[in-house]
Amino acid sequence: MQFQRLGPLGAEIPVAVTGGRTLDLRPLTADITGDFLAGDPVAAVNAALDTLPELADADALRVGAPVARPNSVYCIGMNYAAHAREGGSEPPERIVVFMKPSHTVAGPDDDFPASRGAEKLDWEVELALVVGRRAWNLGPDDDAMGVIAGYTVANDLSERTWQLEESGGQWSKGKSGPGFLPLGPVLVPASEVDPGDLRLRSWVNGEIRQDSSTSDLIFDVETIIRDLSTYTVLEPGDVILTGTPEGVALSGRFPYLQVGDVMEIEIDGLGRQRQAVVAEGAAQ
Ligand code: MG
Repeated sequence: MQFQRLGPLGAEIPVAVTGGRTLDLRPLTADITGDFLAGDPVAAVNAALDTLPELADADALRVGAPVARPNSVYCIGMNYAAHAREGGSEPPERIVVFMKPSHTVAGPDDDFPASRGAEKLDWEVELALVVGRRAWNLGPDDDAMGVIAGYTVANDLSERTWQLEESGGQWSKGKSGPGFLPLGPVLVPASEVDPGDLRLRSWVNGEIRQDSSTSDLIFDVETIIRDLSTYTVLEPGDVILTGTPEGVALSGRFPYLQVGDVMEIEIDGLGRQRQAVVAEGAAQ
């Protein structure tokens, strides 16, 4: 089963794709929210399979981010050793955490508006987690993996001048422009994903940029959940980005993004995104 949100920005319809059918979830929930995910959404859909209507013309609808606007978006930085080194840093000994504002969330195939003044726009394919259970200060015997509702694909778009040269020591300036977080196309329930060895790739204009596996994560998914919960309260519907592997423009091996470029981002089993870079104000 996969969850999606289909339709125009701000008016997405929550659906479940199962058994080859796209089921309209509005009899169960107004949206794919933290409250919906905090229940048992797979069981709720399965219990209603005979009564949920199919959504007509689902294939013709825009694909939105697969969760409603989260309260918080946490990001783990430099969580692949080769990526830390291509950015000029040694791999960290503790998780590096920064935030993206939730307005950055966009659909997986929405145009990406190149922010005015941006000079060094860069892509980052990442495995993203969506929280399904409140977590604070998890102990070693607590079920950290049980906190995760599901997984999706993220592009942690970045502006490197703002992130590194004008940062003042914090990265969020370079992570927060409009449309800087395409999410989706699907939310796959945690029970159906092994997050420990997922191939993740990115392309620009059809040329491969990143090609790695989540098996190379310095801090794995369970460690991220446990560690984050010692510093903050994770709430249902929150999104956590787990870090990007090597192969970004910051390495100096590839040019930064320009208007007219096309990014593609994919994680095996979780789907593929495609964003065209357009001038700000021209995004569809
Ligand atoms: Mg990142």
